[in-house]
Amino acid sequence: MTVRTRFAPSPTGNVHIGNIRAAIYNWLFARHVGGEFWLRLEDTDRERSTKEAVQTVLDSMAWLGLDVDGEPLYQSTQRARHMEVAEQLLASGHAYRQDKGCTGKGECVVFQMPGRDISFHDEVKGDLSKKAEDMKDFVIVRSDGSPVFHLGNVVDDITMGITHVIRGDDHVENTFKHIAIYHALGLPPPKFAHLPMIVNAQGKPYSKRDGAAYVGEFQERGFLPEALFNSLALLGWSPGDDLEVMSREEMVALFTLDRVRSAPSQLDMTKLLWMNGEHLKRRGLDEIVAGCEAAMKRQGLWREDMDPAYFRAVVSCMGERIKLFTDLGEQAAFFFNEDFAYDEKSVRKRLLKEGALDILREELAVLAALEPFTAESTDAALHALAERMGRGMGDLVHPLRVAVSGTGVGPGLFEMLAVMGKDRSVARIQRTLSIYGTPA
Ligand code: GLU
Repeated sequence: MTVRTRFAPSPTGNVHIGNIRAAIYNWLFARHVGGEFWLRLEDTDRERSTKEAVQTVLDSMAWLGLDVDGEPLYQSTQRARHMEVAEQLLASGHAYRQDKGCTGKGECVVFQMPGRDISFHDEVKGDLSKKAEDMKDFVIVRSDGSPVFHLGNVVDDITMGITHVIRGDDHVENTFKHIAIYHALGLPPPKFAHLPMIVNAQGKPYSKRDGAAYVGEFQERGFLPEALFNSLALLGWSPGDDLEVMSREEMVALFTLDRVRSAPSQLDMTKLLWMNGEHLKRRGLDEIVAGCEAAMKRQGLWREDMDPAYFRAVVSCMGERIKLFTDLGEQAAFFFNEDFAYDEKSVRKRLLKEGALDILREELAVLAALEPFTAESTDAALHALAERMGRGMGDLVHPLRVAVSGTGVGPGLFEMLAVMGKDRSVARIQRTLSIYGTPA
C-alpha cells in the first residue's frame, strides 16, 4: 500500500510555524518512503477561510519547497459526503439525534462512544489509551446542519486514502474520538504520529510574543527557506550523530518517525540565525552578494553609485557576521557612507581615552605613507608603531577602528582597512580627528 500523508491546515491568513512543521514532517516522511504528500484545506470556517488565507498557505508551502501530490482537497466541497457518513452512523446505531445541549434550534447529531477503552500505538508517543468512563459522546453535526471538525477530518482522511496522520500533539485527545469513528464505520484507522509542542525559552507554547511565529514573517525578515525548513525539521527530530545543517534532500534520506522525540522542542532565535548563516555559506559568495544588495535596496540603503567590486569586498569581509541578508545594511552601512555616525559609547571609551587621539595621529602618519596598503602591511606597520611607542596593540586598534567605522564592533580591523583602501581610510581618520581632535 502506498504511503499517503497530508497537511490539513485551517486557513486563517497566517501560517504558524507549528503548523508548517507538521507539513514538513508529513512531506519528509512521504518523500523518504517514496509515498505521496497531499494537501487538504479545512476551510469550513467561512469567515476566516478567505481566498487570501488559502493563498497564504499555498505561498508558504511553495516557498519552503513542499510540493504536493494530487489536487488539493477543499473540505468545504465535501459536505454531502460528511452528511452521508453521519446518516450511515445514525442508521447503524453509532449516532443519535438530540435537541438538548445543542446550540441553535433543531436537532444535532451526536456520536455515541462505544463504552469501552480505546487504545492506539502512536508512532512518536508509543502506546496510548483512554478509559471508557473518561470519554463522552460528542456532536458530529451541529443543529444548523454543519459537520463538526471530527467528522469532516475523519471522513476526508478516508476519502483521500490517508495512511499516516502526522500532526501536533494538541490533537491527541481528538484522536481517541477519531479512532472510535473509524471503528464504527468498520474501517482500520490510519497510523498516527503526534508531534511535540513547540515552546519558548520559558517552556510555554511558542507564540507571536516570542518573535516571529508565522512563516511569512521569517520570509520578510530575510530567512532562507532551506534554513527555516532545516530549523523546523530539527524541532522534534534529529538524525543522530550531531548532524544539524542539512539540505532538503539530505533530510529526506534520513527522516524516520522513530527518531522523532515526544518532549517539547524549544525554538531558539539565536540557533535559527546560526542555521541561516550556515545555509548562507552553502549558497556561496555570489548569492550572498546578490541577497545583500536586494536587502539594502529594500532597506533604502542602496545607492546607484555603489562600486560593485567594493560592495563585494565588503560582503566578503563581513563573512560569517552576515547571518541574514539584512545584516549587511544593519551592521556595515558605515562602509558605504563617508558621513557615518559615531557611536557615542565607543567614542567615549575608545577615542576620548587619555592619549588615544595622539596615538591616532601617529597611526595616520604611518598609514598615509604605507605602500602597499594590505591587511598584512597595515598589521605589520601598526605592530611596529606599537613597539616604537611602547604601547599594546589594543591601544592602537580600538581608536583606529572607531575612527574609520564609527563603532567598536565589526570585522577584523586590518581586513577592514584593506577593503576600504588607503585613501578612504586616511580620509576617515582625518575626519575623525577634525571632529574629536583638540588642536595638536
Ligand atoms: N485543521 C486541523 C489543524 O490545523 C487539522 C489537524 C490534522 O492534521 O488532522 O489543526
